[in-house]
Amino acid sequence: MPVRTGEFTGHCKCNQLCLGSSSNRRSAHHHIYNRGMMHEILAVGMLACNCSIFGDESNGEAIVVDPGDDAGKIQEILQKHNLTVKRIVLTHAHIDHIGGVAELVSKTGAPVYLNFDDLPILDQLDWQAGWLGVPAPKRFKIDAPLREGDIFRLGVTQFHVLHTPGHTPGSVSLWIPQEKKLISGDTLFRDSIGRTDLPGGDAQKILQSIRQKLLTLPADTIVMPGHGPGTTIGWEKQYNPFFRER
Ligand SMILES: [Zn+2]
Repeated sequence: MPVRTGEFTGHCKCNQLCLGSSSNRRSAHHHIYNRGMMHEILAVGMLACNCSIFGDESNGEAIVVDPGDDAGKIQEILQKHNLTVKRIVLTHAHIDHIGGVAELVSKTGAPVYLNFDDLPILDQLDWQAGWLGVPAPKRFKIDAPLREGDIFRLGVTQFHVLHTPGHTPGSVSLWIPQEKKLISGDTLFRDSIGRTDLPGGDAQKILQSIRQKLLTLPADTIVMPGHGPGTTIGWEKQYNPFFRER
């Protein structure tokens, strides 16, 4: 059956990452099924930010990471799986990662988490919107910080916060060891790294963050970046042109 862009494709039960396969690339979103932890990845908004929805099927609780836009589509997935959002987690404060937050908050009442080093960037939302030539999204408040070493839970699954500055001062990555997954925001991409030429960017810091905190994770960790296809830590250590050994 052909998959229309943006359409929910249902449980694939393949128990492995199906990102980047030719059949999935045509779809705007992917579904990863793993031991009762649902993980849907939805490419949202004009810049196709990868929004992750994690849902624990034992307790019906969910975490939404980077609802950059399309809050209605995110809501549809939550309703389809009968999930209650417990946290909205932002890898950083760029507009393409946060555009859907206000609407999702109004629908779910869930608290919003951001590293406080990105608060100045959040304050520049109007500038960011002007830079992209889009209307500024509705403002929202940050309820709690994301700090290095913080751990939060969804059922029995732990989400570890890694502060990985460089793309922005408050960029974080989320490491989920039990799932062997990393949500890398705009810090690490397949065969690339995040840009550092926007306000608050720092080229030395992003290299240091990735070397010290991400490439030290197990090689079989699946990496889901903020845009584009997934990868693994092992792949990036070997092939990423910014890090590979020559
Ligand atoms: Zn960004």
